[in-house]
Amino acid sequence: MSTPVKNTPILVQKYGGTSVATVDQIRLVAKRVAAQRRQGKAVVVVVSAMGKTTDELVALSRELSSQPARREMDMLLHAGEIISASLLAIALEEEGVSAVSLTGSQAGMITDETHMQARIEQVEGERILHHLTRGRVVVITGFQGVSRRNEITTLGRGGSDTSAVAFAVGIGARQCEILTDVDGVYTADPRIVENPLKLSWCSYDEMLEMASLGAKVLHSRSVEIARKFGIELIVSSSAQEAPGTLVCSSEKGRKEFGEMEEVLIRGVAHNADVAKVALLGVPDEPGIAGRVFDVLGAHSVNILLIVQAESHEGHNDISFLVSSEMLSQIQGDLDALSGKIGARKVIGDQGVGTVSVVGEGVQRESGIAGRMFKALAEEGINIDLISTSNLMISCVVAEEFLEKAVQAVHREFLE
Ligand code: ADP
Ligand code: ASP
Ligand code: MG
Repeated sequence: MSTPVKNTPILVQKYGGTSVATVDQIRLVAKRVAAQRRQGKAVVVVVSAMGKTTDELVALSRELSSQPARREMDMLLHAGEIISASLLAIALEEEGVSAVSLTGSQAGMITDETHMQARIEQVEGERILHHLTRGRVVVITGFQGVSRRNEITTLGRGGSDTSAVAFAVGIGARQCEILTDVDGVYTADPRIVENPLKLSWCSYDEMLEMASLGAKVLHSRSVEIARKFGIELIVSSSAQEAPGTLVCSSEKGRKEFGEMEEVLIRGVAHNADVAKVALLGVPDEPGIAGRVFDVLGAHSVNILLIVQAESHEGHNDISFLVSSEMLSQIQGDLDALSGKIGARKVIGDQGVGTVSVVGEGVQRESGIAGRMFKALAEEGINIDLISTSNLMISCVVAEEFLEKAVQAVHREFLE
């Protein structure tokens, strides 16, 4: 790991797309960053693409092809962040602060070559540190890197959070501020639940579960890296200076904020961007499940949940969840495989979502699952699949009832 800039505190901030959506907002961000710089801090700013730029670039590609090459998608999508980073550097210079923008590649973000879902292999922080020691604010494009063969890659949607934390590690910072359109992590998505509570802190483990289960306020891989390297995350508002939510180890959180012992459920997360695949009437023989999941592995598909029902008359049903965007990519191969292994039918269903409770109480208290299922039943919501771990209980429900499900479960545990 690189050594910090001598005697100077390093500040790493990440501004999300909604916070740099317009030139006026970029000017405001520049003023805020300039104020920090004038206080003598060494500042690294990681930015996302302006507003809905990434969605718009995806839409442009879809006008030309339903399955564009993933390499070309990376070439296309990484352009979004280059625009916002260079504009922010220009705005900073206008504020009288010396600044330089760098692409992920220029800033030393080395990844593997899994286009659109690249994993970070290493961050070489030297170039960033070189500019910092010369007093420049370094503005870096989030979401992207470069492979060792010089191919441009992106880290997956929402990946700028992960870039910011990785750069913090690469230059030896201790903290990373994630500045966004909400002023912290809440007990549920404030767009869906009317009065969720703002968390003053949350453990890495709980935040990782929340993010993996759909709370997109943080990219789950950013939390993974933060936990691994002990980087504290501060999630707060890009529009005002107010204390946000600290994501840290449970030891530190407990010590600083107390209260943790009584908390059963930290929050409710939901994910509408999932699809269910059901393989019906699969022969109940050794090796079949392995063959099914080999096919998925070949597409680098992330499987969110697997359920295999009890066997009946030598056959069983295997159901699993994947992200919505993956369904179309794997459907053809699954159809082919289902023929080969003699399955009766494959069904792909986009019309589902997951609602999940996350918290240490799931393991400690026996009644949590019952309360969750009852809360859903009282709203007439049918549970399709269930999955549990030490920290969470997750239910698959019809997407049309998802918001109602989140509200009901939140009411049960957190209001
Ligand atoms: P950015 O563009 O800054 O990366 P995102 O849209 O990716 O912002 O993430 C912020 C959004 O995350 C919020 O606007 C909010 O709707 C959503 N969100 C989902 N779950 C939560 C939660 N538990 N707490 C706060 N925000 C949440
Ligand atoms: N611009 C990218 C996206 O929209 C990355 C990010 O915003 O974090 O997914
Ligand atoms: Mg985001």
